[in-house]
Amino acid sequence: MADELGEKCGIFGVYQHPEAAKLTYLGLYALQHRGQESSGIVSSDGKTLHAEVGMGLVADVFNERRLSRLPGAMAIGHNRYSTTGSSLLRNAQPLVISYAGGSLALAHNGNLVNAGEIRKELEQQGAIFRSTTDTEVIVHLIARSPENSLADRVVDALHRVRGAYSLLLMTETELIGVRDAFGFRPLVLGRLGEATYILASETCALDLIGAEYVREIAPGEMVVMREGGVEFFRPFPETRHAFCIFEFIYFARPDSIVFEKNVYPIRKALGRQLAREAYVEADVVIPVPDSGVPAALGYAEEAGIPFEMGLIRNHYVGRTFIEPQQAIRHFGVKVKLNPVKHFLQGKRVVVVDDSIVRGTTGQKIVTMLRNAGAKEVHVRISSPPSISPCFYGIDTPSKRELIAANQSVEEIRSFLGADSLAYLSLQGLLQTVAPDDHQFCTACFTGDYPERPPSEELLQLELF
Ligand code: AMP
Repeated sequence: MADELGEKCGIFGVYQHPEAAKLTYLGLYALQHRGQESSGIVSSDGKTLHAEVGMGLVADVFNERRLSRLPGAMAIGHNRYSTTGSSLLRNAQPLVISYAGGSLALAHNGNLVNAGEIRKELEQQGAIFRSTTDTEVIVHLIARSPENSLADRVVDALHRVRGAYSLLLMTETELIGVRDAFGFRPLVLGRLGEATYILASETCALDLIGAEYVREIAPGEMVVMREGGVEFFRPFPETRHAFCIFEFIYFARPDSIVFEKNVYPIRKALGRQLAREAYVEADVVIPVPDSGVPAALGYAEEAGIPFEMGLIRNHYVGRTFIEPQQAIRHFGVKVKLNPVKHFLQGKRVVVVDDSIVRGTTGQKIVTMLRNAGAKEVHVRISSPPSISPCFYGIDTPSKRELIAANQSVEEIRSFLGADSLAYLSLQGLLQTVAPDDHQFCTACFTGDYPERPPSEELLQLELF
């Protein structure tokens, strides 16, 4: 299931609101950055589940007509991103199934590390899978559980899986939210008025609908919302926490609170720390928009160098962009970014981004800045070198494709064509994000995986 590595997704759920599906639609809109491949909402009117799921952005998938087919006071929604190869409607979520116990909808953010093994075992016993997502394994385990209540079935199923999950599950009458004991992926609880509860990947989704941020769902915690009340359980054994540090570096929206910390000030502080560690004399600091903006601001402030938006991003570039075959070749990053020559001509430029994955973006940007007249180009990255793939829900390529896994900083600098290149140190990152407590997963930078990652089949794929 190599093509299932890393499902970075956004999830959102509403309990007890007359316009549950519409709120979910808004919530998914705010979480669009967490997944652009497919979007779906399942609602319950108390008797039946209603599902609308499609490929594309939230705005492409939903319209008034589709939303009107989602009645009821409960809903869960999902924005999916996945790596190529599994870009199929049958993999879109929420997954909806019928089994002996009734109907069940499920929305998953994260990635299970033993899904392949369990799937093989279940298939040998006659199970038929309709998607290639690891999430379907959970559904099968729930359906087969000997327990009676949904909550007990879910706990039973989750005891068998390993890896990262922030999950929303819904039947006709119940909504459950649960987070794995490591707490890899975020999940927050919100409240709208007295009676309405919200579950969301990030607080920016609460802000949009005017809901109050109550608190994070704790690692290993499960919340069950049903007639009679909202109850919280801790059904999983305590383990060390492993919050995804990459949420702070790149993935979460800067206006969100994740893992009880504000993202934007952390991103900016990473830029400050980077300037302390890797100052260079220059005339202007520019970000790679949008991901590099807060860190570039921090860098510029700390270094005392003017900040300019030296690259302008076209925000309307969708996945469907059609490149001309002959006339204008090698569009690449030009479609998305265009330099503001006025600020670059004859200047010594520091360009700040949050990370380098394959190195292709950076290479094109350096060329673009030089063509725009920059005298010197210094690349600064507000995270350590990305050397190991993520098995817990961030979409990263295999080790073969991660440039920093295979080349030294000097070799990468030469590949980018930059005058200098510097990354933030791991120590600088940890000190900035969590000065007092180190509860983070840093596997992408260290290769130190909190949860035994590679199943045999992953190892065979030479990802390590
Ligand atoms: P690359 O060209 O492969 O080096 O990609 C680097 C760019 O991708 C940077 O601008 C990052 O902000 C961005 N990036 C980092 N991680 C991810 C991710 N998991 N998904 C999409 N983009 C990412």
